Amino acid sequence: MDFHITLLPGDGVGPEIIDAATTVLTAVEKKFGHNFHMQSRDIGGVAIDTTGVPLPKETLDACKQSDAVLLGAVGGPKWDGLKAHLRPERGLLSLRSGLGLFANLRPIALHEELISSSPLRQDIAKRGVNIMIVRELTGGIYFGERGYRDGAFGQEAYDTEVYSINEVERIAKIAFEIAMGRNKKVTSVDKANVLETSRLWRATVERVAKGYPEVELENMLVDNCAMQLIKEPSRFDVILTNNMFGDILSDEASMLTGSIGLLPSSSLGAGNMGLYEPIHGSAPDIAGNDEANPIATVLASAMMLSTSLKLVNEAFAVECAVHKVLAKGLRTKDIAGGKKHVSCSRMAEEIALAVLNR
Ligand code: NAD
Repeated sequence: MDFHITLLPGDGVGPEIIDAATTVLTAVEKKFGHNFHMQSRDIGGVAIDTTGVPLPKETLDACKQSDAVLLGAVGGPKWDGLKAHLRPERGLLSLRSGLGLFANLRPIALHEELISSSPLRQDIAKRGVNIMIVRELTGGIYFGERGYRDGAFGQEAYDTEVYSINEVERIAKIAFEIAMGRNKKVTSVDKANVLETSRLWRATVERVAKGYPEVELENMLVDNCAMQLIKEPSRFDVILTNNMFGDILSDEASMLTGSIGLLPSSSLGAGNMGLYEPIHGSAPDIAGNDEANPIATVLASAMMLSTSLKLVNEAFAVECAVHKVLAKGLRTKDIAGGKKHVSCSRMAEEIALAVLNR
């Protein structure tokens, strides 16, 4: 079959990890007889340098016309001094809202082969970590009214958190649907003891839960959730939360797996179209060294295959190939624990080979 994929390499390690993912996608094309029409566009700092804005209209238009979008990462010290609306990260926020992507899915799984790389106590790690974090993506404090004003103590800054019932309902439904295909448990994380938006969040999620009687709903305060992720991560199945809490908790949870370079994410809206990316940033400290771990981006492309392109067997083949190379002992620097390691491009070639030899 033919599919149109827009690639957005972005900044820092972005081009290296997108190259790695395309190596694996090319193997999938060959193995399964598909045609992936992949075209690259600029976003983030590289787009600022060439066009003056972090999300050129041409990039957004190309994404809208694709079946799916695969992104590397944006940002870096070169652009840190720019005003907020011109920073590379604004390109990503505009892309998500421009494509109407309101749900961010972040699977956090500890690979059996990497249990010893997890900073968790080994008895806790051995009980397993397999969590799907469902984060609301286009509302809350990242998008609310903000600014500076004169206050009682001089100039002050403010950001505002706003959530509508409709925004909470649509993300809650996604979490419950996902839980139905997993272990049927949703932990909804809020700060309902303090925040009004959290009280609306909790009441709305409890109403949505009534439509899913098979799914157990647990409400948890965000501070407790931050603790439980370290103390007893195996208690979680699906975590449902707002934009800012999801941003922070998913980075915390990512560390349970040994490296941020292992974890993919997808951002979805009402249709099939989705944006797929690693959860890490542009890693400027290692950019250009061919040492980034490409597995997060490769697994993001597997999510793209199964979710937007509906190629479930192909996605499974990529996931199995990742397990196979890890079981063989291949490690990039971040998960090698100071021992022998392979480059980003070599890891991608090995995964591609494992797809072809399946
Ligand atoms: P980061 O995720 O880029 O890096 C944090 C640490 O993890 C670094 O030590 C880095 O070397 C390491 N790391 C990240 N990805 C790795 C990989 N694939 N393999 C091995 N090691 C990896 O976060 P940061 O340093 O806080 O941010 C750097 C830039 O990225 C900033 O400009 C930030 O705004 C941007 N950022 C972008 C995104 C995105 O594009 N989605 C997300 C987060 C941060």
